Amino acid sequence: MTEAAPKKEQRRKFQAIRGTRDLLPPDTALWNHVEETAHAVFTTFGFGEIRPPVFEATELFARAVGGDTDIVGKEMYTFEDHDFGELSSLASTITYRNPDIQNSHSVSSYVEQIHAFLGAYSEGLAQNKIPRTPDNERALENLRMHATRIPILAGDWTGGIEHAKTRLELQISGVREALRVIQLGDVLSLRPEATASVCRAYIEHNMQQLPQPQKLYYIGPMFRRERPQKGRYRQFYQVGAEVLENVKPDATRDAAKELTKDAITDAEVIQMVMTFFDKLKLPGVQLEINSIGHAADNCRRGYVALLKSELEKVKDKLGADSQRRIETNPFRVLDSKLEHEQPIIATLPKIADHLCDDCKTQYAAVKRELELRGVFYTENWRLVRGLDYYMRTTFEITAQGLGSQNAVCGGGRYDGLVELLGGPPTKGIGFAIGEDRLILSLQEAKDAALAAGKQPPFVYIAWMGANAYAAAVHAAKDLRAAGVRVELPPVEQKFGKALERASKLGAQYALILGDNEVAEGTWTLKTLADGAQQKFTEPHLLDFLKKL
Ligand code: ATP
Ligand code: MG
Repeated sequence: MTEAAPKKEQRRKFQAIRGTRDLLPPDTALWNHVEETAHAVFTTFGFGEIRPPVFEATELFARAVGGDTDIVGKEMYTFEDHDFGELSSLASTITYRNPDIQNSHSVSSYVEQIHAFLGAYSEGLAQNKIPRTPDNERALENLRMHATRIPILAGDWTGGIEHAKTRLELQISGVREALRVIQLGDVLSLRPEATASVCRAYIEHNMQQLPQPQKLYYIGPMFRRERPQKGRYRQFYQVGAEVLENVKPDATRDAAKELTKDAITDAEVIQMVMTFFDKLKLPGVQLEINSIGHAADNCRRGYVALLKSELEKVKDKLGADSQRRIETNPFRVLDSKLEHEQPIIATLPKIADHLCDDCKTQYAAVKRELELRGVFYTENWRLVRGLDYYMRTTFEITAQGLGSQNAVCGGGRYDGLVELLGGPPTKGIGFAIGEDRLILSLQEAKDAALAAGKQPPFVYIAWMGANAYAAAVHAAKDLRAAGVRVELPPVEQKFGKALERASKLGAQYALILGDNEVAEGTWTLKTLADGAQQKFTEPHLLDFLKKL
């Protein structure tokens, strides 16, 4: 008897999770080209690469990105990280049990399980393996109390069985509640963005003691539980950079000089992104800039208050989202894409008319510095970044061929964020490029293959005969060492078949090695496109291919 294979319908067909995808050849060549270009361009601007981990404490993102944002509120992949698998499954067993008051065994085994849980849980707390948070301590107390009361209540039927049942149910829901709030380990999230991580690393590694500013860039996956569509994924990639600079205690002494210095940094950062896009020949690049004022100053607060009161006046004409934002974040109403809100938004007060002198000076300097660098921009007074920590310079870059998801880069200044995360007073400016969208736009532009850069020459070795095989193995080794891409078939092929396969794989050349060639010490290189043949000795062949 042969062992039965699992029935077809029982075999699960695995697929990439919704919103994630495999990047495959030949597309990955373009991804690599984009990333290599980023390394090259950013290096010329004095940036160094940072590779933070892809998960961090949820609290870090909640604080940096903001608890009220969509990202933190509903888009993060969050999990509890702990070594207490058994304890955790015991907790869910207890949670789903419904002990029967009329069955003493059922009640006592329920209570036994609670005691078993309590034993391991309090030990974990005592050894600090489980965090000693106020919630956890309270849950411990409550569980102890319920574990004592349940056996007493279960045996006490005064007032009737129904009454006793109700009292027991109350205890059980108390147990469930205690188990629900318990955190056996740290609460972590897959990063939805990387600015928070870079700031955390800056603090953790005391980078304020290194030469300032610290100029860092990163490339890697981000995770947000959004509705997947073209240009919007749940795992997507960002190429980003941050400039972080410790604020000197005497920085306020020459405020004007500081403002110009910041403006130059802003302009350089923007210039760097534009240079990168230029190198990639990204089509239809458009840069928009704005200044959103200074949070700590009156200009931002004054403007937001004015905006809010103006919005109140037109409230009934706005959609539900904007109505809500009047309260939570009036700034974000300017972001609205709703058709019928556009004429209303057009009449709202503009921040440029309300900037304080410092912000005005800085914004003017940014524009002047961009012009000096030959960077074209348009001003968009409605360009706000939703997050509280952004200030002054904000910018966004769009590209062609992306439909409504056409933003490929967003950035801005965020002085104060490092301090908010527990670090020293620090200035910051940065951006994040959506690499998936960047690639889509390049692919739409068709000359993506060109953009993918020069591939090394591709040689297929058509060998025939045992002697030729040994020579082919050596030739493959030498050619590969010289950077040539080589395909060495593992079986002998007839000449016609070999050429056919070489073309199918996309090789440019076939290197013909038969017994004659081996005896002569010369090899024949056939150009597949036009069928031309040339004879070479090995050193000449290497020279020829290297020159390509
Ligand atoms: P959008 O308004 O398009 O949602 P965002 O303001 O959420 O963008 P940022 O957090 O500023 O985006 O991220 C910077 C860039 O990252 C965006 O301009 C975009 O190119 C890219 N990006 C953001 N979310 C996604 C996603 N879910 N899938 C692919 N790319 C994304
Ligand atoms: Mg978004």
